[in-house]
Amino acid sequence: MQQLVDAVGCTMAKRPDARSCRLCGRYLPQLAFFCETCLQRFVSLPQPRCARCQASLLPNGRCPDCPPDGFPFDQVMAIGAYAGLLREAIYRLKFSGDRNVADPLGRWLAACVGRQRRAFDVITWAPIPAQHLMQRGYNQAEVLACNLARYLWLPPVSLLNREDAYLPHALSSRKQRRKPLLIAATRRLKQRHVLLVDDVLTTGATAAGCAQALLLDAGAARVSVAVIARA
Ligand SMILES: [Zn+2]
Ligand SMILES: [Zn+2]
Repeated sequence: MQQLVDAVGCTMAKRPDARSCRLCGRYLPQLAFFCETCLQRFVSLPQPRCARCQASLLPNGRCPDCPPDGFPFDQVMAIGAYAGLLREAIYRLKFSGDRNVADPLGRWLAACVGRQRRAFDVITWAPIPAQHLMQRGYNQAEVLACNLARYLWLPPVSLLNREDAYLPHALSSRKQRRKPLLIAATRRLKQRHVLLVDDVLTTGATAAGCAQALLLDAGAARVSVAVIARA
């Protein structure tokens, strides 16, 4: 935990303009991304939690989110819980047009992913609905993926497309109801380990849809997921 905070605290931030907190704007006496007050609002992942999707386990020790046949992705890596500092930072990125906060979040997530000591070949991101893209002007997952890619020295590649076709509930098959998102791969890979980036993982449905498209359409060998926060 302290390592995580150190990654965005005083010691490792080297940006010459990092003299004010990226969240509250408070002046910082040392080079850093966030001030101590904001860092104190960081909420860690729950304990005990699912080793695969990081959800808080039920009292009987089972995961409330992992489907019986398992998620199509290997593992979820998350900085912390979707609360406090991380929730505010994601809100700023998504709804206040503040893309500056993606840099510290990418740095922080890189520290988190790096500790897993796993090799990835390429980084991609979850597509968002076209309407959100038009309103926001950018995909926050893409912005995060590009910042993470910079710190991990990996290529960020657009691999997925999303169509939000409306499926009438009565007409959709059981399988379609489980997978309401129409996500397709836009290009093929050769047996690569893909790191899929998104801002938040809630039920895992979007990440599962993306992972399926990457495995089945794009020919990826494995998919792991990196998110800023686990809801
Ligand atoms: Zn602050
Ligand atoms: Zn799980």
